[in-house]
Amino acid sequence: MARGSKAGGKPLGGRRRKTPGRKRHSHQNAVRRGGVASVAGRRKVVVSRLDRELKEVAEQQVATSEVLRLISSSSGDVQPIFASILASAVRLCAADNGVINRWDGGALHLIATHNMPQAFIDVRNQSPYRPHQHSASGRMLASKAPVHIADLAEDRSYLEGNPPTVAAVEVVGIRTTLAVPMWKGDELVGSISLGRNEVRPFTSGQIEVVQNFAAQAVVAIENARLLHELRETLEQQVAAADVLKIISRSTFDLQTVLDTLLELVVRLCGAELGALHPKRANFRAFATYGGPASHNEVASTVLFEPDSGSVMGRTALEGRPVQVADVLADPQYQLQAAQQQLGYRTCLGVPLLRDGEPIGVIVLMRSTVRPFTDRQIQLAQNFADQAVVAIENARLLTELRQRTDALSRTVAELQRERKNKLMNLEAMAASISHEVRQPLASIASNGGAAIRFLGHAPPNLEEVRSALNRMVSESHRASQVFDNIRALFEKAEQGHESIDVNDLVRSVLSGLQGELDDHGITGRLDLPRDSPSITGHKGQLQEVLVNLIHNAIEAMRADEAGRRLLQVSVRPGGADKLIVAVEDSGPGIDAKQAANIFDAFVTTKPHGMGLGLALSRMIVERHGGQLSVSPAQPRGAVFRMVLPTAQPSSKASR
Ligand code: ADP
Repeated sequence: MARGSKAGGKPLGGRRRKTPGRKRHSHQNAVRRGGVASVAGRRKVVVSRLDRELKEVAEQQVATSEVLRLISSSSGDVQPIFASILASAVRLCAADNGVINRWDGGALHLIATHNMPQAFIDVRNQSPYRPHQHSASGRMLASKAPVHIADLAEDRSYLEGNPPTVAAVEVVGIRTTLAVPMWKGDELVGSISLGRNEVRPFTSGQIEVVQNFAAQAVVAIENARLLHELRETLEQQVAAADVLKIISRSTFDLQTVLDTLLELVVRLCGAELGALHPKRANFRAFATYGGPASHNEVASTVLFEPDSGSVMGRTALEGRPVQVADVLADPQYQLQAAQQQLGYRTCLGVPLLRDGEPIGVIVLMRSTVRPFTDRQIQLAQNFADQAVVAIENARLLTELRQRTDALSRTVAELQRERKNKLMNLEAMAASISHEVRQPLASIASNGGAAIRFLGHAPPNLEEVRSALNRMVSESHRASQVFDNIRALFEKAEQGHESIDVNDLVRSVLSGLQGELDDHGITGRLDLPRDSPSITGHKGQLQEVLVNLIHNAIEAMRADEAGRRLLQVSVRPGGADKLIVAVEDSGPGIDAKQAANIFDAFVTTKPHGMGLGLALSRMIVERHGGQLSVSPAQPRGAVFRMVLPTAQPSSKASR
């Protein structure tokens, strides 16, 4: 680098450049010397000066390129760069020691030292250094230009006892000192000071060298800042991508999304605690992060309410980020109890906005007074926006699920209706043959019996009469079956009458007594004393009972084990219902069939039609009732028919 060049830094304005240019100075020296030396001698002097200057330049170039190399390969740690800058500056300017300071607008902070005893460093670090106005740094700050003090021991700052100056002179032994400002644009960001432990002023060339290094130090600081920002941005982008991933993966679990989101925003914004308060009308998930175990409980007492007494309330009120640097210094702040338990000071609230309306607030807290930067506030707001997306997703999903449920219910109803209709048509013929087969078979066997009794000598007329009677009643039953089936497809209430349930049960059971006896089944009745009445189609309800009892007989007939018991009971089922139960001691319902035995054409019997229960349920439902089955104890099945009573049924049973 050419001497005097400001490459890598800001050219210094004339105001700041108190020291005259080195070229002029060197030229003046040469002219002065020229008056006393011979031409050859002058040449020799010039040659050796040029030679020395060349060496200096070469050395500076080496040092500068070393610093530039460090800057370009830096991973963000400026300390090795400062150390290199300072060591080079001290060496190239033939100084004994040096420091680099950072200026924060009010004080200088030591950020690098070279050849400085610990005692001096301790004095400097004791308190923020606000330089004495007459010290080198004080004057540099006032003039914004390099300040050069030939003998610090003669300087006012030393004579007036300014502690860092006294330490510099007495602890370090500095006599000549130089303070050069570091500029970033028009902003003072720090200084480089060099010291010599003897009275020997720095040359203007040396001052320029330090200025160059100061410019490089600024580049290093700036690079590190950019790198830090880049890293922060990257970290935020990764976090945002994480959040999106979580949102897309677990839309089903809003709580997990909000918990994760809150944790990320607390960490990335450098907060210690965070809480997400929902407006309950919009969503209910509530989240807290960090702080003591009681945080969740304490935060849950802070309800979403727009008011000026809390940061949450103010954010809800204003619908934009609200920051209170210190809640203890805020006269309007009212959440003293929460503040005392959680110990926060700086508080930031960001709204969760949907269509411009706050539907919740994220509050970030710090336990010390340390306001959030604009960047952090922006970041928190971004996360709040993501939270709104997650909440919206969850809301839409719930709506979608509800609609799908409703739709599948409708589809199931339609399917059932269609199936019933199909059954009505297709099953009509099948059900007629199914229902009529029983009485026809009975007529046939009674007819055969009557013929046999007639063939006896003498003919057993008594038996013939009873067989004929049974044939008559069975043929009535067969024609009743036709009537009942026809009634099934008539208007719901056609043919309805008042029915005494006890009578109905008794008559069905006595009609089937013969079959029960044939199969060794004990029939038992359990009826209420005051017989309840219902309104309905007698023939159809009889068919239901006959069907249930037939099924019970068939189930027990196929079952060898134990005593065969059939129990039919009637009892009240609440004020306006009664329950007719048919219980058997058979093998019970096959677990695989249990779910669909009421569907049409479901049967486990070799010659079964699988229509009895489907028709029975249809009849009971047409009467405004329900038919269901459950296992009996200790074994068997119990079918329950719940029917609405004509009048409130009597509580007395038996
Ligand atoms: P089907 O009697 O023609 O088979 P149902 O609809 O009346 O038609 O009965 C359907 C099926 O339900 C029967 O095949 C049988 O497996 C079962 N089932 C009905 N009642 C009983 C019962 N009391 N015990 C055990 N299984 C029964």
